[in-house]
Amino acid sequence: MLVKPHSRVPGLFVGRQPESAWNRVRLRSRLLDAVAQELEMNRRDLMKSCLGAQWGGGLAQSETRFLPGSVARVEARIARLLLRHTWTTTMSSSDFRDTLQVTYDRDGVVGHGEGAPIIRYKETAESARRAAESIRDFLASANPWQFEKVMAEVFQRIEGEYAAKAAIDIALMDWIGQRLGVPLYKYFGLDPADAPLTTFSIGIDTPEATRRKVREAEAFPILKVKVGLDTDEATIEAVRSVTRKPLRVDANEGWKSKEEAVCKINWLESQGVEFVEQPMPAAMIEETRWVRAHVHIPIIADEACLHPSSIPGLAGAYDGVNIKLDKCGGMQEAFRMIQVAKALGMKTMLGCMISSSVSVTAAAHLSPLVDYADLDGNLLIANDPYLGVRVEAGKLVLPDRSGLGLEARL
Ligand code: MG
Repeated sequence: MLVKPHSRVPGLFVGRQPESAWNRVRLRSRLLDAVAQELEMNRRDLMKSCLGAQWGGGLAQSETRFLPGSVARVEARIARLLLRHTWTTTMSSSDFRDTLQVTYDRDGVVGHGEGAPIIRYKETAESARRAAESIRDFLASANPWQFEKVMAEVFQRIEGEYAAKAAIDIALMDWIGQRLGVPLYKYFGLDPADAPLTTFSIGIDTPEATRRKVREAEAFPILKVKVGLDTDEATIEAVRSVTRKPLRVDANEGWKSKEEAVCKINWLESQGVEFVEQPMPAAMIEETRWVRAHVHIPIIADEACLHPSSIPGLAGAYDGVNIKLDKCGGMQEAFRMIQVAKALGMKTMLGCMISSSVSVTAAAHLSPLVDYADLDGNLLIANDPYLGVRVEAGKLVLPDRSGLGLEARL
């Protein structure tokens, strides 16, 4: 930024000044003051523009100040998301999903977070809401700039309830990004052009309904098909009667023996399936290792992979891991999981539950780091309250606005 030394000196060039020694001294003094003022403003501007690429520890004191007497207002409420189609997997079937929405409101900036409770892990929207409310006072007085320390304390204070943890973490990260004036992908040092294609998910249904859903998903170049029941062959044949697109399948632990899994996976390979997610129950790690040795396409862990500590035990049995903010407890934990998996030479995938654009956009901001994305949970609902990440010809397009970059739908 150029210094404009004369622009802030009052009266400097208004009319002619008498040429006297005192006047020259006074003018010189005022000019120097003005230059110093400009330089100080430029320094602050430069600091501000650099802050976006830095972590909390490098922040200038002026940027981390709060308004006098400021505390945060934290609210947790349950949102009912209505599904466009009845959603069926090997685990459940429903027409709606309830998620926990958390807002973190401080100094006029509101961060939004969301977590989708997973019934498999004995979480419900109500248990998530109670968990978030149990630490409302702690969050209200905690220093959000120390978000890593804050979330470590949240993990200490709450047993389980990872959807609640995710909602709190995302709300804090959204607030931090907005205060710094940077999109969260930029905060993590990522290039939005590296965001991968996302799959569009086709839930288990009748062959006729499956064909209709596949036609509706015409804009997506890769589909993810739910399998894991006796109807698998009929489902894939229904899909293949409509499209030759690459497919990925998710068995959601549906195949109960290693022999059945090998048979199904090898047939799926012949149908153009790229990889299989969670073929057998999460606890059957050794059986999955055996299956991996007898098939050619990658096997990705989902239900078997919850937290960073899960990953080393899966290396060798799985080719990669599906990381979800709702399973692990937010963006910070998901970032750690991606790094652990990469360090072990495993493929990485970001997935989601059925959620609004709050949670899906949070995951999307990390997506330039991963090999595969399955971030379509917001596209499966009819009443998304926000606009965030978009999908163009299957590619995730990250918002360039600060924080999550959400906009309320009118
Ligand atoms: Mg899955």
